[in-house]
Amino acid sequence: MPCPVAFSIAGSDPSGGAGVQADLKTFCRLGVYGAAAITCITVQDTRGVQRIHCLEAELVADQVRAVLHDLPVSHIKTGMLGSTAIVRQLGNILAQFRGEVIVDPVLISSSGHPLLAPEAMDILLRHFLPAATVLTPNLPELTHLAGRPSFDSAMNENDLLTACATLFARAPRLRAICVTGGHARAATGEVVDRLVLRAPASAGRPVVAARHTHPRLTGEIGHGTGCTFAAAFTAYHLRLGDDARAFARAAGLVADLLAASPPLGRGTAPLAHHLQGAADGIPDASFAAPKAASPSCKTRDATQTGPQHR
Ligand code: PLP
Repeated sequence: MPCPVAFSIAGSDPSGGAGVQADLKTFCRLGVYGAAAITCITVQDTRGVQRIHCLEAELVADQVRAVLHDLPVSHIKTGMLGSTAIVRQLGNILAQFRGEVIVDPVLISSSGHPLLAPEAMDILLRHFLPAATVLTPNLPELTHLAGRPSFDSAMNENDLLTACATLFARAPRLRAICVTGGHARAATGEVVDRLVLRAPASAGRPVVAARHTHPRLTGEIGHGTGCTFAAAFTAYHLRLGDDARAFARAAGLVADLLAASPPLGRGTAPLAHHLQGAADGIPDASFAAPKAASPSCKTRDATQTGPQHR
C-alpha cells in the first residue's frame, strides 16, 4: 500500500520557525511524509516580517496540481495564502479534493504583519472555507472569520461556541474546529485549547468535545506555534484517523515544544522541532565545536556572530 502523504500549502519563513518550514519539520518528526507548495515568499526573522512577495496564483496552482497528480495525498494542510487570486485558485482545486483539508486560517503574524490581503477575506469565506474539514484558528482568527466586530480577550466559551456555529453553518464539510487559546486574557496562568465538533443534529449547537490545558509560559518563545499545531494535527490525524486523539496529541506536542525550546535568534524563538530527547544516543543540543569560518563567510559583519544560544 502506498504511504499516505501530508501536503502543506503555505508561505515560506526563511528563519525556519513558521510556514512550510515548520510544517515539514513537524510532519517529519511525527513520521509522516510531507510535500509542500509555496504560496508566498516572506522576508522575516524571529523579530518579525519585513516583506512579502506572493507568487503568481497560476504558479501556486501548478505546484499543487503537480503534487496531487503524482502523490497519494490524503491530507492537505493550508497556511498563509497571501492574495485573493491565490485563495480563489486554491478554492477551485480544493473543491475537487475528497481527502482531509485542514485549514489554518493565517490572517496576521504575531508581530502584527497582515499575511492575508484584507480584500481576500470575502473570497476566503465564500470560496475556500467550504472545502475545509478541520479549522485551526486562534481566538482572534475565530472572531474575525465569524464576522464579529473585534476580538475581546475576555471571550467566554459561550461566545466561542456561537462563533463556531457561524462557521459550521458556512462550511458544509467542516467537522471540527480546534481553537487554540493562547490569546485569551492571561488571568489563570493557563492556556486552554478546545476541540469543538459540529452538533450531531443539523440544528443543534456545536459541542466542546475536548479541552487541553497547559501552563502559560512567559518569555520570548513560540514563533510558529500556530503552524506547528495545525501540522501536528494533520500528521496525527493521518496516522490515527481520529479528531479527538489528533487534537490531544497535537496540543500536547506544542506544549512540550514550548517548554523545551531554548532561546534562539534576537526575537521570539522558534519551536525546536528537532530536539528529540536523544533518540539517536547523542544528547540534544550537543554540538561539535564549529570549524573555522569558510572563506565565503568572511564577509559577515561583526554583529552576525553565528548561532545564538542566549
Ligand atoms: N510566516 C508564515 C509564512 C506563516 O505561515 C506564519 C503563520 O502561520 C507566520 C509567519 C506567523 O507566525 P507567528 O505568528 O508565530 O510569528
